[in-house]
Amino acid sequence: MTVLSSKASVSLEENASWSEEMFRDLHQHPELSMRESRTRGVVGAQLEKFGYEVQELGGGVVGVLANGEGPTVLFRADMDGLPVKEASGLDYASTATQVDENGAEQPTMHACGHDFHITAGLGAARLLAEHQDDWAGTYIALFQPGEEKAAGARAMVAAGLTDKVPTPDVCLGQHVLDSPVAGKVAVAGGPVLSTATSARIVVHGAGSHGSMPHLGVDPVVLASTIVTRLQTLVSREISPADFGVVTVGSLQAGSSANIIPDQATLLLNFRAYSAEILDQLVEGTERIVRAECHAARSPREPEIELYDRYPLTENDPDAAAVVREGFLAQFGADRVEVMDPATASEDFSVLPDAFGVPYCYWGVGAYKQGRETFPNHSPLWAPDMQPTLRTSTEAAVTAVLAHLAQSD
Ligand code: ZN
Ligand code: ZN
Repeated sequence: MTVLSSKASVSLEENASWSEEMFRDLHQHPELSMRESRTRGVVGAQLEKFGYEVQELGGGVVGVLANGEGPTVLFRADMDGLPVKEASGLDYASTATQVDENGAEQPTMHACGHDFHITAGLGAARLLAEHQDDWAGTYIALFQPGEEKAAGARAMVAAGLTDKVPTPDVCLGQHVLDSPVAGKVAVAGGPVLSTATSARIVVHGAGSHGSMPHLGVDPVVLASTIVTRLQTLVSREISPADFGVVTVGSLQAGSSANIIPDQATLLLNFRAYSAEILDQLVEGTERIVRAECHAARSPREPEIELYDRYPLTENDPDAAAVVREGFLAQFGADRVEVMDPATASEDFSVLPDAFGVPYCYWGVGAYKQGRETFPNHSPLWAPDMQPTLRTSTEAAVTAVLAHLAQSD
């Protein structure tokens, strides 16, 4: 027994070359977060061709297909690439560049696999439109911008998403990952992705000649003690049973060996599986930074600014159980794994939270068994196009159909 009807399964096969062509085109034209104008155009044109009612919204595009009485299901795909220079060696590798928000030209790459998400989202939209006899209800195909900056889902909500499409009963989303192996899917109820935030911290010293440190306040030493002391947050303040990560990803100060600079800038990233732990890490950081500044005779209060806040992705147990049942029926038990919580983060849950509805988010394997894998965001990220395209499309249709009213 499978979720897709035999006719829909045949279409899935027949659409393979269409979907591979679409994928290559998207892969060669990656666009930076909140600058996905070409991609939005490609997606909108396809949805219109499939018969969807299409609107552009907050930098994204959403298509609605009403097909009689029944539940309403929203499936979301993210569209942005990254400022990464592709080094995959693929024959369809990206050589594209794009001017970023600061006016700098950046190499661009679909290094997070969102090209798979778009293609699978379009493939699912096409299949559902071609096989309306198989289901009843309303399907919403949503393509959001700016996931990598935690900005796109909020932008679509701010542009009035909840008033402009029917309220879904459930929201669904997926991500291609380096685990499980290609051809498999992984799903679970509860927290599956961490909540996260970044922080920009500027600490102040007093500039001096490198030979006369006693006449200044050295922000390099100050910043270094902060980095060291921050290591105690997770190891000494968070319960060993809880999960937290504090990473100082950037530390910038000074320009010359013999000059003591007057400030240092730190960029931090925090991860947790609950908002309380995340807040505890951020508060602890603030306390340590202020105390170290005081200890170092810093002449001014530090500046601490939080940005790129991602919510927790916590699957609704019932919504996840329906998806899992569908996957088991469609793929068989040996291709369905339990998704372990990942330390990555997503803004997907902003969408269901705006509607006040449950959601489920799952993973799709992207590398064949035995292949050397490279993680998302690596310049070497190069999943196997197949079976990844097929599995991600099949997973999307299966999860949607499992939540819609199905007719035989
Ligand atoms: Zn990413
Ligand atoms: Zn991603």
